[in-house]
Amino acid sequence: MDTDVTIVGCGPVGAVTANLLAQAGHSVDVYEQREEIFQIPRAVAFDDEVMRVFQDAGLGEQMASTVHPPAKKYRFLSARGKTMFNMQTRDYVEVNGWGKVYSFYQPDLEEELRTGFERFDHLSLYEAHEVEGITQREENVVTTVRNRNSNSTREITSEFVVGCDGGSSTVRRLLDIELEDYGFDGKWLVVDIELADGSGLPQYPSQFADPDRPTTFVPVGPNHYRWEFKVLDSESESEVDTQAGIKSLLSNWLTHDDYEIIRKQVYEFHALLADEWRVGRTFLTGDAAHQMPPFAAEGMSTGIRDAQNLAWKVDAVLRGDASSSLLDSYERERKPRAEQNIELSMRLGRLIQMGYPLAFVRDAAFRALHVVPPVHAKLEELSPDPSRLSDGFLSVNHVGRRSRTGLLGRIKSEIGDDESAVGALFPQPTVQDSSGEMSRLDECITGFGLFGRNCDPTSFLSAQDIEYLDEIQCSLFRVPTSVADLVAGDSETSVIYDRDGTLTDWWADYREDVVLVRPDHFVYGMCAPSDLPALIEDLREELESASTTPAAGTAPETDQRNTILE
Ligand SMILES: Cc1cc2nc3c(=O)[nH]c(=O)nc-3n(C[C@H](O)[C@H](O)[C@H](O)COP(=O)(O)OP(=O)(O)OC[C@H]3O[C@@H](n4cnc5c(N)ncnc54)[C@H](O)[C@@H]3O)c2cc1C
Repeated sequence: MDTDVTIVGCGPVGAVTANLLAQAGHSVDVYEQREEIFQIPRAVAFDDEVMRVFQDAGLGEQMASTVHPPAKKYRFLSARGKTMFNMQTRDYVEVNGWGKVYSFYQPDLEEELRTGFERFDHLSLYEAHEVEGITQREENVVTTVRNRNSNSTREITSEFVVGCDGGSSTVRRLLDIELEDYGFDGKWLVVDIELADGSGLPQYPSQFADPDRPTTFVPVGPNHYRWEFKVLDSESESEVDTQAGIKSLLSNWLTHDDYEIIRKQVYEFHALLADEWRVGRTFLTGDAAHQMPPFAAEGMSTGIRDAQNLAWKVDAVLRGDASSSLLDSYERERKPRAEQNIELSMRLGRLIQMGYPLAFVRDAAFRALHVVPPVHAKLEELSPDPSRLSDGFLSVNHVGRRSRTGLLGRIKSEIGDDESAVGALFPQPTVQDSSGEMSRLDECITGFGLFGRNCDPTSFLSAQDIEYLDEIQCSLFRVPTSVADLVAGDSETSVIYDRDGTLTDWWADYREDVVLVRPDHFVYGMCAPSDLPALIEDLREELESASTTPAAGTAPETDQRNTILE
């Protein structure tokens, strides 16, 4: 085997996948056809969940110093330029451990991710190398790579291949995977500028839903600003994409020309979803698996969540802790989320790009909605629902149920509204350990996390169960609800106190005192301490189900598609 995992493409998703797998100790080869980082303007925003993934890759603090602080609000303006809603960011730092929305330039972020590679001797990046073929075999997968400088080709054998090769993915084409087209396309002009004094400009992102020229504005850090202008149906691309055309568009904001256009590009967006995300030993992630209009700023973020979901599963299979069937849950968990984000982006796109006279109807509807207090509150808060899994690698027997009180609570419980803890994203509070040390919770966890509220989970488990948890890398925690109980015991279990109360608040809704959390921070199972042995048995069965070694029977025969590009 030349390497454990071959990664095709080193955009943000490939770079995160590589960092996560190398951090887990696996050898990784990354092949990138370009000679340098792509400089064209693309993503400018990501959220706290994505920052948590960077943290998992050991790059949280570095990334925090590269990107720009969370925006405090996000403004939507009507056809007449009036504020439709003004979303304020709630102080989300307490839930995922990071600020709600960060702004950045994609090339800077990609640079930081590649700097992360330097930490690992077992991670190699090959620039100017284009992947041209994939041959799937029962025991491994062979990737054919061409060095674009020497024009020589070589074959790399690995356990798995991850296609992170963007919208026109070669891997997707080689595997003959179809794309579902949602039929939502459009052309926008993106302009990034630098100016010495931007004090006259808003310091928060704004969407101008102006039918005459739908426009997005984003401050991207000190003295850097992004405008995105819809190219109108009546215009040609070459009309707007000129110095004079751009100057004229910017003249609505900037009365002087004391600025420098650092990047500009007309891009065409699409809404596309790959039919299959896994074929045998090969996976698709990021834009290779899904493309969406940029209105919800979710394209890269969705891809980075794919990387996180896939990386811990590949790690578990490579270590022999799980059968390869665990990898089937990757598509089951991630494809519906990508679909939701595509649909959200399309809904926002339709709202923002609405023409006359519908735009006036839209604006009137929003004005009316603001009169209804709960709707007003929702519109004024920039807090999209946190990620949640509804299907996949989750316990079905030990799900944890919200214990609601009052009539409304009982009705909600009856209709099963968002009741289960399973599939929820476990919060990341700042915790204090028994020596007084403070840290973000995820920094204390390696792999799975087993948490007992006011109890040591190991006291309900046999020696074999504890040994098993150790083998699969599960960190153990007692979480006292009183700081007076923050005293180390004599077991392997760490004692942590939730300093900011986030976890305590989250847990208060549930009666069950034990939670088992997956390496990607989603709750696998929740139960009473007396049911813990059964929960661990469930976990073991699920991880080992259809038990095969990673090398054997990874894919049914029909999935072993072997292709070399002509
Ligand atoms: C105007 C605009 C604004 C956006 N704003 C946001 C935003 O605010 N937030 C957000 O989350 N997303 C945003 N996006 C989307 C985001 O930029 C993309 O989703 C993201 O870049 C996809 O990352 P990726 O790694 O999957 O693919 P890419 O970044 O496209 O990387 C794929 C890489 O694979 C390489 N490659 C391709 N084929 C091969 C091959 N055969 N062999 C070797 N290498 C290969 C390519 O050279 C490339 O470097 C925006 C996009 C646009 C266009």
